[in-house]
Amino acid sequence: MADLSLRKVKKVYDNTVVAVQAFDLEIADKEFIVLVGPSGCGKSTTLRMVAGLEEITEGEIYIGGRKVNTVPPKDRDIAMVFQNYALYPHMTVYDNIAYGLKLRKFPKRVIDQKVREAAEILDISELLKRKPKALSGGQRQRVAIGRAIVREPQVFLMDEPLSNLDAKLRNQMRSEIIKLRQKVNTTFIYVTHDQTEAMTLGDRIVIMREGFVQQVGTPQEVFHHPANLFVAGFIGTPQMNIFDAQLVREGETYFVEAGNARVKLSPEKTARLLSADVDSQPVKLGLRPEHLTLTEEENAISATVDVSEMMGSAVHIHVNACGQDVVVVVPLGEEEEDGSLPMGKPVRLTFRGSAAHVFDVETGHNLEYPQPKEQIAEPPAEEPESPETPAQEPEPPAEPQPEPVPEPQPPAPPYPAGLDSTEKIIAETVAEAMNDPFTE
Ligand code: ADP
Repeated sequence: MADLSLRKVKKVYDNTVVAVQAFDLEIADKEFIVLVGPSGCGKSTTLRMVAGLEEITEGEIYIGGRKVNTVPPKDRDIAMVFQNYALYPHMTVYDNIAYGLKLRKFPKRVIDQKVREAAEILDISELLKRKPKALSGGQRQRVAIGRAIVREPQVFLMDEPLSNLDAKLRNQMRSEIIKLRQKVNTTFIYVTHDQTEAMTLGDRIVIMREGFVQQVGTPQEVFHHPANLFVAGFIGTPQMNIFDAQLVREGETYFVEAGNARVKLSPEKTARLLSADVDSQPVKLGLRPEHLTLTEEENAISATVDVSEMMGSAVHIHVNACGQDVVVVVPLGEEEEDGSLPMGKPVRLTFRGSAAHVFDVETGHNLEYPQPKEQIAEPPAEEPESPETPAQEPEPPAEPQPEPVPEPQPPAPPYPAGLDSTEKIIAETVAEAMNDPFTE
């Protein structure tokens, strides 16, 4: 259990690549923080700096009030679960979980107790005698988590731990992590590119882009009050629709105009725009697909149906409106089996003033929440990498294979005595793949 503090943290690789900058975050004891953003935005680098696996170029990191900038990983009292979890193939589940504790010379009785407790938490007590090859991908990942749990770390770091699993297992393991979090009372920092994982797991989410933090908030805050166009597009699925529109201020009232629609903004939005003294101007208008409705009214955005996607409980209707592809989510009632509309059908769309998000055309920032300019990497792209699309095909779980080793290797990481030469090669390869610097 520990709080963490990251202060003006910056990472520059090779004096050239600025991977992370101006990273400021206070993490409370036992908080579950998710770092999320597209590939290359600096999530892993941030996590690895907390772990001590990367040097910090500038700034400070504190764990439990202690500055750890120069503290080696094994002395930071943290545990980390990587994307490419690797288990020792020749050891049972029990021994895999116990391994780190054995190296640290814990008494046998204590090891046994910790391993059994971890197995209980992860629901793998039945599997303790099996070897990794007799486990499913999800079970192997639980063993990898078990190995981290037995350390009883102050901080639990997880770097895309589910991205090697197929979609069904990922969903299942996501709920397992929610349960794990309730049983293991510690601070978590979790890295993912998947906004659904971020929304479901995080107490707070840190959305990153090109090395900069874009917004920090609860899932509700980042969904309902996105700081800028980038966050608006990244969080929520299907993605928020963005229209070219006009914000009109009439005294103390605001309207947005898009297509033939003119909609008065809600009192809450009006109050925030007034306090930021926002004037009439062209804006990017953000409307979530589930907040658009089909209407017969004249005061509406005219559109033409392209495609209807039946999703079971709702239909996603793709329409062409104001010259662009717009998605409308139409929920289906119990009796309705098919809400699809024929291609080419003219429709009209409306929305409520509480659902409209107005963004600055130049900077992309949310006009309700004036934002310091330095927090925005660049004018945000209108189409961030779709969070729906997996970054890549899931690779098979990293069950490490022995590599032929032609030359004698540098000093090997510790492995149990009594292995034959093939097993030693496996152990070395695995230890490298595990990249487990938290074990002495
Ligand atoms: P993410 O985890 O969000 O995908 P990373 O933290 O891995 O992003 O990378 C952030 C940036 O730093 C990227 O531009 C990446 O290419 C670069 N980077 C990461 N590791 C190294 C490294 N060891 N050397 C040089 N550049 C790196």
